[in-house]
Amino acid sequence: MPEILEVEMFRRSASLVIGRTVKSVTATDRIVVPEPAAVRMLVGRRITDVTRRGKMMTIHAGPARDPLAIDVHFGMSGRIIVDGSSPIDELAYGASDDTKWIRFALRFASGEMLLSDPRRFARVQPSSAWAGLGPDAFEVGKREFIDRVGARRAPLKAVLLDQSVLAGLGNMLVDEILLRAGLDPRRLVNTVSPTELGNVHAVMRRVLPELARKGGSHAGRLSAELRFAGAACPVDAHPMDRCVVGGRTTIFCPRHQH
Ligand SMILES: [Zn+2]
Repeated sequence: MPEILEVEMFRRSASLVIGRTVKSVTATDRIVVPEPAAVRMLVGRRITDVTRRGKMMTIHAGPARDPLAIDVHFGMSGRIIVDGSSPIDELAYGASDDTKWIRFALRFASGEMLLSDPRRFARVQPSSAWAGLGPDAFEVGKREFIDRVGARRAPLKAVLLDQSVLAGLGNMLVDEILLRAGLDPRRLVNTVSPTELGNVHAVMRRVLPELARKGGSHAGRLSAELRFAGAACPVDAHPMDRCVVGGRTTIFCPRHQH
């Protein structure tokens, strides 16, 4: 599943089309593109920027007096393919580049940008549809992080996964951050001190660029191979526990996460 790091890779890849003018739009899948007429308004417009907030990527098009922005949410299995290549290869997703999975396409005089999505949880729609996202996890400052997260009354992990509090963190990244911060994911966030939340922020700001360099959210210390009860904690080798927090499978170490 694309998390913030993978979406940042897609954003960089999609940035290759900045400056190109859209010749045609393919938007035939009504689930992935629920408002095709609005998205087809891209035809004839020049792409001016591609931005990201959390796990959502936005394609901006001119002209300046009448701009149009389209959001792309990648769902479970969405991938961007620009001019025939993708920053994340299909094998990593257990998918292939079968053309029947292309749900959305922008074609230019030279080249194309495709959205491939076997499972159809991706969404492409006009930008206002995504109001209500919190600040981006790569960019949020410490004070704002402590204020926003600390204001809730729910398990710490559930709050960190809530995209209206903070945009971008997914299941594996939250487990990785809490493992490194030494905090129990089940703890009610109103019992977590501002100092501890400040430490979570500091860990998050280190982990995101580190895993981006290493290639994605699977590259953490709590790797996919360790995501089972009884696996040795990568910090202290104590057997880890498995539970469900915020509806998501959670792996944590009962010895060093409090
Ligand atoms: Zn441990």
